[in-house]
Amino acid sequence: MKRIWILVMVFFLVGCSNNEDVYTSEPIENVTLTVQELSDFTDNTLNYYDIEVTLDDEKDQLIGKETITYHYDETEALEALYLHVYPNAFKSSSHPSLFDQEVTKAMTQEGSIEIKNVLINGKTIEYSYEPIDTVLKLPFDLIPGEDYMIEMDFVIQVSSTTERFGSIQGIYNLGNWYPILAVYDDEGWNLDPYYDVGDPFYSEVANYDVTLTLPEGYIPSASGYLYQKEDKTYHFRADRMRDFAFVLSDKFLIKEKLVNDTLVYLYYPSSLSNHYWTDHALTFAEETLLLYEDFIGDYPYKSYSVVITTFPSGMEYPGLVMISDQYFYDFDITNLRQTIVHESVHQWFYSLIGDDEIDEGWIDEGLTTYFTMYFDQAVYKKAYYDRTLKYYRDRRNKYGIENITVLKSAKDYADWSEYGVAAYVTPALMYDEIYKTYGDEKLKTFVQSLYSNYVYGILRYEDLIETLKTVYGEEVMEIVDRYLK
Ligand SMILES: [Zn+2]
Repeated sequence: MKRIWILVMVFFLVGCSNNEDVYTSEPIENVTLTVQELSDFTDNTLNYYDIEVTLDDEKDQLIGKETITYHYDETEALEALYLHVYPNAFKSSSHPSLFDQEVTKAMTQEGSIEIKNVLINGKTIEYSYEPIDTVLKLPFDLIPGEDYMIEMDFVIQVSSTTERFGSIQGIYNLGNWYPILAVYDDEGWNLDPYYDVGDPFYSEVANYDVTLTLPEGYIPSASGYLYQKEDKTYHFRADRMRDFAFVLSDKFLIKEKLVNDTLVYLYYPSSLSNHYWTDHALTFAEETLLLYEDFIGDYPYKSYSVVITTFPSGMEYPGLVMISDQYFYDFDITNLRQTIVHESVHQWFYSLIGDDEIDEGWIDEGLTTYFTMYFDQAVYKKAYYDRTLKYYRDRRNKYGIENITVLKSAKDYADWSEYGVAAYVTPALMYDEIYKTYGDEKLKTFVQSLYSNYVYGILRYEDLIETLKTVYGEEVMEIVDRYLK
């Protein structure tokens, strides 16, 4: 995510943003989604989600059914498995106030998910929400190496917010909406709640087949690609993705452009139909893909959707990013560019190269923040890079370097301001110093080596340090220790 504290930067940058370059993209305007060929990708070692869901826009509900083919590949037998059911975080007045306390208080409809009829391998399961509301516990003996078929029905109430999960002004932001398997790792089950600070999500790649039925006039944007459409029912597929998000609206217009072998979509509300920056928005996504497919590694998905929505800044999901419509209304091209680039860079750091965003969120945010700066320099002007660098240095100094701890869990930060300077700014300054010391080619070797070793996997602190040492030599630790200790 790109957070509110970055908005502070607007006041610093906006005065300098009059000399933006002229863009010349020729996107295809297309009110219907393109149906793409179903890929023959199979990997039966991955978990598989088969979800069928219908939107009821009168009640703001999603009603559906989910079937997961789950491969239990740990070495020890367990007595339960767990899924996150994040809509329950929006259930009570104590739900996370992610952005704006006032917006949170103004929520008139709470969000929730009601689970029904849970079966594992055809057998009825007595499930419970424990240890917290946002976790579904399914007691069942798990034997290493076995496969399980988990089935459940659900009714999801969408909250009336402009958060990652919420509906307002006829746009449904549907991030973290369906029951998703918790990760079992060397710490055991990761059952963290939906924290206020950070993007509090941690998941493994899986394959998805999602069937969505919409009311008349609605257009879906999705993490996966569309492979079949019958009347108001859309069939999406996503292979090796670590989450699946939607944004739905009856007000969307679409532009699309083929970039390498990915169809890049821009979704935007019809109120922006005369806004010429919609072309720019598509171009920023295109330029990011072109730069980083070359510099880091292949973007393997068949579609990528940039969705202009009510979300108040930017939020990344695999194959789909939410971008604030406010940048258009404010004519804030700098924040529009930086937010689209930032969320697009997350397609590599978080989506393809995963991490535990709760315990080590600085890994994806730090790399993403740095490669957003790097984009500005590589595609536009070095002055943009230098300006951001100066802003970050000032920000870190002003906060007090001695008050900043990068290596701690998102749940231990007091607020977004502290998290921003620790997880975004400080690692970005570290990568800047490494880049200035060792140069471009080494930087490329470093990120390509992250990509080749951790694509579709989870990158941890130890792995990151090991890769830095392998590429740059032991002496790089002199720089690393100054920022991370
Ligand atoms: Zn981010």
